[in-house]
Amino acid sequence: MNKKCFINWSGQYQCQPTSVHYPASTEEIRDIVCQAIQRKTKIRVFGSGHSPSDIAMSDRDLICSDRLNQILKIDSDSQTVVAQAGVTIKKLSQNLAKHGLAWPNLGSISDQTIGGAIATATHGTGLNYGILSTIIQEITLVTGLGEILKISLNENSELLNVVRCHIGSLGVVTELKLQVTQEFDLEVREKPETLENVLEKLPESLQADHYRFWYLPHADRVWEWSATRKPPGETALRQNFCQRFQSWYQEKLIGYYTFEFLLYLATYNPGLIASINRWYVQQMFSKSKQSRGNSVSQFNFNCLFKQQVNEWAIPIEHTSEAIFKIRQMIQEKNYQVHLPIEVRFVKGDDIWLSPCQGRDSCYIGVITYMPYGKLVDCQGYFKDYEKIMANLDGRPHWAKRFGPDAEKLEKSYPYWNDFQKVRYRLDPDNLFSNSYSDRVLGKPQKFVFS
Ligand SMILES: Cc1cc2nc3c(=O)[nH]c(=O)nc-3n(C[C@H](O)[C@H](O)[C@H](O)COP(=O)(O)OP(=O)(O)OC[C@H]3O[C@@H](n4cnc5c(N)ncnc54)[C@H](O)[C@@H]3O)c2cc1C
Repeated sequence: MNKKCFINWSGQYQCQPTSVHYPASTEEIRDIVCQAIQRKTKIRVFGSGHSPSDIAMSDRDLICSDRLNQILKIDSDSQTVVAQAGVTIKKLSQNLAKHGLAWPNLGSISDQTIGGAIATATHGTGLNYGILSTIIQEITLVTGLGEILKISLNENSELLNVVRCHIGSLGVVTELKLQVTQEFDLEVREKPETLENVLEKLPESLQADHYRFWYLPHADRVWEWSATRKPPGETALRQNFCQRFQSWYQEKLIGYYTFEFLLYLATYNPGLIASINRWYVQQMFSKSKQSRGNSVSQFNFNCLFKQQVNEWAIPIEHTSEAIFKIRQMIQEKNYQVHLPIEVRFVKGDDIWLSPCQGRDSCYIGVITYMPYGKLVDCQGYFKDYEKIMANLDGRPHWAKRFGPDAEKLEKSYPYWNDFQKVRYRLDPDNLFSNSYSDRVLGKPQKFVFS
């Protein structure tokens, strides 16, 4: 019998589970979990496979959340929505817009499922806004004992800040209630800058509603992005033919196809990368621009082609030190690295395994593209980047590619042991494990409960 193959977005990770399940309801999931307990197997959930790591992979049972895709209730008065966990952020945003509502903050794409985004502490940017999980009010979870658990401020409230970042290892999230907001536009200003200027003005820049910047290695420039929230406005003017051609030429022909082709050539001669970066910055990041549009279209952007990504969160006060050290590391080691290095800012929270737990944070993400799917070696670069981030009290993004295992990660999280106790309570037989969770969280251990 041919087994079905599941591949993540970048194509770098794949698995062939022994059984695949397509449940559409909480009750169906409970039945699948109960059968899995009897069969003494392992089970993992696959959201939309956008994590650039093996986090969603399973060679045993896999629950695919494609049919768990219903929006159950939108309440315009309380600005809340109840949805199944397999609904994508994009689908939810489109439906919220029909009711004049929106997510308060978003990351770079909207293709993730809500369940997947919550699992890994997916984040956007803006110091007044926490990771996406901070807007969750209620979660329904099927535990490793086959129980259906409702978790909210009124019920099992002690678990809310545990399951708001669950890393796929506490159970199957089936439904969520989210506190959303009135829809809004973003007026975005983007401009080229030097790294020194950007870091000097950082406290002032962070007053903006949403702020991020991209450091562009080898060109040694920065592209700044700053957004102001505005009431929803008129829809954008339609572009005429010439304008459409101009934007196709710039965004697609130069910004995508030519860039990918040049990066592919550079896989045979990495010495070309510095020149390619400088050319790209000249083409794409040399002229200031301003735009206005609905929040989703402005938060999201085209992340181009398949890529390996590593991203860590550090306490915000270490931002300048981290970036200067990364720049110095690239120069001293003569690494030929792809652009950009993305820098974002997120409000601290109380979620036990959130990388922003207890501190306002700066996320710095490094990237290595896979032109036409070709894997490019980035081990040395990512390892040296991790050393810098770890020495600055950094915590890795759970979804992305990172080195440290449970023994090292434990030291970064004050609630690590508390999380492990809850994990053991909800999943004593380690039903929801895979190679990622064995490595990153370790095996759940029996704790003595007082
Ligand atoms: C192009 C690109 C851009 C990105 N941009 C950002 C960004 O701006 N900010 C950011 O923080 N991240 C970003 N990410 C990372 C992305 O948000 C996370 O990887 C997210 O977890 C992907 O969601 P998914 O639905 O694909 O989940 P998957 O990758 O399929 O799964 C992730 C984890 O969630 C678990 N899971 C999924 N659904 C459930 C459920 N219902 N119950 C229990 N466990 C579940 C899985 O088992 C797995 O452990 C980006 C990724 C890509 C590829």
